Amino acid sequence: MRRLGIHSFVWTDGQTQEGLELALEKSAEHDYRCIELAYLKPEFFDLDRLAKKSQELNIKIGVTMGLPVDADISSNDPDKVLKGKETLAKAVSAVRDLGGDKLGGILYSAHTKYDRPPTNDGWKNSVDTIAHIGELAKAAGIDLVLEVVNRFESNLLNTTAQGLKFISATGSDNVLLHLDTFHMQIEEANPAACIHLADKKIGYFHIGESNRGFLGDGTISWAPIFDALVAINYDKDIVFESFSTQIVDKSLSKVCAIWRDTWSDNDALADHAKKFIELKWTEALRRRTSNLRV
Ligand code: MN
Repeated sequence: MRRLGIHSFVWTDGQTQEGLELALEKSAEHDYRCIELAYLKPEFFDLDRLAKKSQELNIKIGVTMGLPVDADISSNDPDKVLKGKETLAKAVSAVRDLGGDKLGGILYSAHTKYDRPPTNDGWKNSVDTIAHIGELAKAAGIDLVLEVVNRFESNLLNTTAQGLKFISATGSDNVLLHLDTFHMQIEEANPAACIHLADKKIGYFHIGESNRGFLGDGTISWAPIFDALVAINYDKDIVFESFSTQIVDKSLSKVCAIWRDTWSDNDALADHAKKFIELKWTEALRRRTSNLRV
C-alpha cells in the first residue's frame, strides 16, 4: 500500500473549518498519511488554509461524496444530469485547490435507496458524464474513483463486475474503482476473488467492518482480503472508514443508516485500526513469503 488513511467522520461531522483542521491534526497525531474529507461543501471552507495545513502535517487529502437525488447523472431527466455534471466539475476543482489527488464515492448516481432498477439510458447518461469528468480530473492530476456500494445506497454499481464494465465503457484510463470491504461483504460472492478480478483497476480501497465499527468486531474474513491485496501488489491508498452516532452528519448518517454507537472513543478507534491494518498487511506478506519458501 502507498499510504494508510482515515475517514474524517472518525473525528468530525465536517461542518466547520475548525472541525476539518482538527481532523487533519488528529490524523497526523495517529500517524495516518492521508485523510478523506466526505461530503465537503467547498463554498463554506477556506480551501487554501486546509491545503497549507495538509502540507505542513504531511497528510494527503482525498474527497468523497455521493450525488444528491436532484443531481443524479444516472437519471433520464436531462436537468438532473446537467446539475450532477456541474456538481462533479466543482468537486474536481475543490480537490485540486486542496492539493488532493483523488475524488471518490458514489459519483455515478445519487447516494440513496432507490425504489427501482436503473434504466439503460440512465446507465449511458452516467457513463458519458463520468467520461467527461474523468478527463477534467486527469487535467487536474486527480484520479476519479467510483465506489461500488451495496444495494441500499445505489442501484447502479453494486458489484465489482458491474464497476469494471462501467469504467471500461467510459474509455478513460483515469476512472478507476473504489472498493470497500463493508459493501463487498454484502454483495460479492467472494470479495478476495473480486480484488483479483479488478487488480490494477482498483484506485482506492476502504477498509470497513461489517457493522462499521471496530475492525475485528464483525464478520469479515480479513486474511483472504489482505492476501488478495498483497498478491496483486496493491500500491495505492487504503483508508479506514467507520461510523458511529458519536459523529452525526444529518445527510450522510441517514443515507448510511447510522443508528447506533459502535464506538465512543475515536482516539482508541483510530489507534486500533492503524495497528490492525498494519498487522494484517504484515501477516499477508509473511504468508506469501512462507508459501514461496522451499
Ligand atoms: Mn466506503
